[in-house]
Amino acid sequence: MNPQSLSMPPRLNRLSELAKDLWWTWNPPAREVFRRLDYTLWRQTAHNPVLMLRNVSSDLLALAANDPDFLRAYDAALDALDRARTARDTWWLRHFPGNPGPIAYFSAEFALHQSLPIYAGGLGVLAGDHCKEASDLGLPLVGVGFMYPQGYFHQNVSPEGWQQEVYEHLNWADAPIEPAVTPDGSNCIVAVPLGHRSVLVSVWRVRLGRVKLYLLDTDLEENAPWDRELTARLYGGDRETRIQQEIVLGIGGVRALKAMGSTPVVWHLNEGHAAFVVLQRIRDLIESGQTFESALEEVRRTTVFTTHTPVPAGHDAFPFNLVETHLAGCWGTLGDYRDQFMALGSYDNGSGPQFNMTALALRTANGVNAVSQLHGVVTREMWAPIWPGLPDDQRPVRGVTNGIHVPTWLSTELMNLFDTYLSPDWRERHDDPDLWQRVNDIPDEELWHARQALRQYLFAFIRERARQRWRDERVSVARVVAAGTLLDPNALTLGFARRFTGYKRPELIFHNPDRLNAILNAPRRPVQVVFAGKAHPADETGKHHLQQVYRRAIDPAFGGRVAFVDDYDLHVAHFLVQGCDVWLNNPRKPLEASGTSGMKASINGVPHLSIGDGWWAEGYTGKNGWLIEGQPVKDATDIDAADASSLYDLLEHEVVPAFYDRDGGGVPRRWLQLVRQAIITVTPRFSARRMVKQYVDQMYAPALEGQKVEK
Ligand SMILES: *Cc1c(COP(=O)(O)O)cnc(C)c1O
Repeated sequence: MNPQSLSMPPRLNRLSELAKDLWWTWNPPAREVFRRLDYTLWRQTAHNPVLMLRNVSSDLLALAANDPDFLRAYDAALDALDRARTARDTWWLRHFPGNPGPIAYFSAEFALHQSLPIYAGGLGVLAGDHCKEASDLGLPLVGVGFMYPQGYFHQNVSPEGWQQEVYEHLNWADAPIEPAVTPDGSNCIVAVPLGHRSVLVSVWRVRLGRVKLYLLDTDLEENAPWDRELTARLYGGDRETRIQQEIVLGIGGVRALKAMGSTPVVWHLNEGHAAFVVLQRIRDLIESGQTFESALEEVRRTTVFTTHTPVPAGHDAFPFNLVETHLAGCWGTLGDYRDQFMALGSYDNGSGPQFNMTALALRTANGVNAVSQLHGVVTREMWAPIWPGLPDDQRPVRGVTNGIHVPTWLSTELMNLFDTYLSPDWRERHDDPDLWQRVNDIPDEELWHARQALRQYLFAFIRERARQRWRDERVSVARVVAAGTLLDPNALTLGFARRFTGYKRPELIFHNPDRLNAILNAPRRPVQVVFAGKAHPADETGKHHLQQVYRRAIDPAFGGRVAFVDDYDLHVAHFLVQGCDVWLNNPRKPLEASGTSGMKASINGVPHLSIGDGWWAEGYTGKNGWLIEGQPVKDATDIDAADASSLYDLLEHEVVPAFYDRDGGGVPRRWLQLVRQAIITVTPRFSARRMVKQYVDQMYAPALEGQKVEK
């Protein structure tokens, strides 16, 4: 027991429970409790209440326990938390009064909050937002993933612009996790066969309101040193590590749920990483007396699979011998059907047949979906050999377009405006498009005031980071400039924050440096670009792109109007998507399956300037942002030039004039029309609320046959 828990006043005995339920992250009344308790510590810990409670002084706690205002906030937050966990008037229970469940959701990463660094990027954010929304809608969902003690890396950029990866060991006591327990009260530990040995996996529990997340961890004393390292890092290792991680996730995940007495009715595999779930499930069903065929049928009926990328390298495939080696101990009664099972994963993507995790998932899931409508088309084409002889429109892949968790991504400034001008129940109804027309009632001046304030917060954040680098690391003046010190808080600001990788073309805007320079340094109408993003540690090309962008940021020719903010994560993302003026996205079509950062920006009134790829192919209305449509070209190598030229045209003729065209009071009326349209059209349609409801109705429903009440 730590000394702090001894000095916790009895009146505040549920404070630590509130800190450990990440429900607080998207519920302002709960955040308010920690801000009030010790605002300095709240800032110093980067909003980590678990860490706060380990360090807050007992004097402050004693004061809080006797402060009526604090106690009111505390009681209100706990009441709301209890309601979130147990309410009966939820969307889910209205549709499924029998409350069937649970729904198991497997993902290799979950992005919930910066205090739990178990995510790399978009895939994790989607999983995290899915879980948060599931809690809000009342779904009995349990997530299964990994507890990576070293997480994904922190990014440092060298003076030459080269990315350096720094892994930090998470202090377990500072994280919002607790050991998961089995029904008999003991800590949940399961064994997973890897090759001919057995590896022990312990399970951590994270709470998110109604939803629980179980995180698998092999760092146990009983395990060999190399096995303890298996789950140390996200996407850290080689192919051998990767397949072993995937066995732990799939096989270990099913065993962990069983050990905890959980019997899911739907199994959702978010990406192919977890596809070994089906192996353990078929084996369990055979052990309970079924044939291979009926077991496979049952698994199909209850499995949902979401695929996330049209980029071939994004689909894990392993040589058969590697799979044979590591699965050696997993077969049990399934051993007689080993060839049938291996055939389920066999796929030739051009370089000979391999065991492909996506192919395995496609062949064993009834419900398969891509993450935008366009990605659905691309996926049906890309995986055609899985369904030999089936024409395009009959291949069973739907499109469920991604969405974002609105309470997580919407700024407080805009929430306050919506409280005033939308109907009082806008939070409950935020996926209703009609409701959003009321955004037209917000006066221009107030909307502009909110947008200006959000830009100021971004610059305060950027400057403070630059100042700390300068003070603590004594970096060069050029690097202080590159970090954004010379940015103008009143200038039109473009944001580009995403993984640095070839197809996202981070350098496209520099295609014609002179033309860009004329745009950035135009007299009285300055434009600036803020970049952020990590390259995958093994992606050398991505790191070269990053270096090229960094070179522009330190090049005096651009006059300090290009900045690179390092260590992109959820915290940085919040500032960027809320504080920029325009969100830039220029992937090589059709390689961006969906993209979600542009949705986060749009709901905050930051219009999207994007290629018509991913979600923008269905999100662009002609009035809510801009579409980069390069002229048709004969030669693929000319695409970049054509797209860049279209981007410059839009900036010169549309974006810059709309932003700087002001009335007598300095308000950009035309710009605010775009801001409004972005909010009105994107918030309901690209919310996680719309998305999760669609998953339930289209993907989970077949497995819940007969349970649904039509409303
Ligand atoms: C939203 C988000 C992403 C995904 O954004 P894309 O538009 O898909 O590139 C990646 N990383 C972080 C930290 C995010 O918040």
